[in-house]
Amino acid sequence: MKTEADNKTCPSSTCKEGALLLGVVQGDNTVALLTGTPLTVDKAFAEKAHEDGDPERRFRFANKCVQTGCKQWTGHSCGVITRLHEMNERIEADAQLKPCAIRNTCRWYAQEGDSACTICTYVVTNNLEEV
Ligand code: SF4
Repeated sequence: MKTEADNKTCPSSTCKEGALLLGVVQGDNTVALLTGTPLTVDKAFAEKAHEDGDPERRFRFANKCVQTGCKQWTGHSCGVITRLHEMNERIEADAQLKPCAIRNTCRWYAQEGDSACTICTYVVTNNLEEV
């Protein structure tokens, strides 16, 4: 039986048709989350974005958390945000969270709460292999 925990959104997914455009990587490697209703990536956007190099270096995408279908899944949670949280354990969550279109279902927020959102600003998906 599906539970609420099974219906989460991955905030660091890949650029493919059906994904949501979540944010844009800035010149200082931080991510500016887009506000409002996120744009759904269509075929044309995905193709164009790949023509210009790895889109995940320039944008952040959200999509359904596939749990066991992802190598980052530990069996019960997302290993990415757990590791990032451990590496930044002294980080203080922003007093005022920035708006985020997927917070209601975000896997990272569900696991780590407000501090996930502070860490999230510094996550460029294509660099996560090094984490
Ligand atoms: S961690 Fe926070 S800011 Fe990042 S996508 Fe999830 S809810 Fe949004």
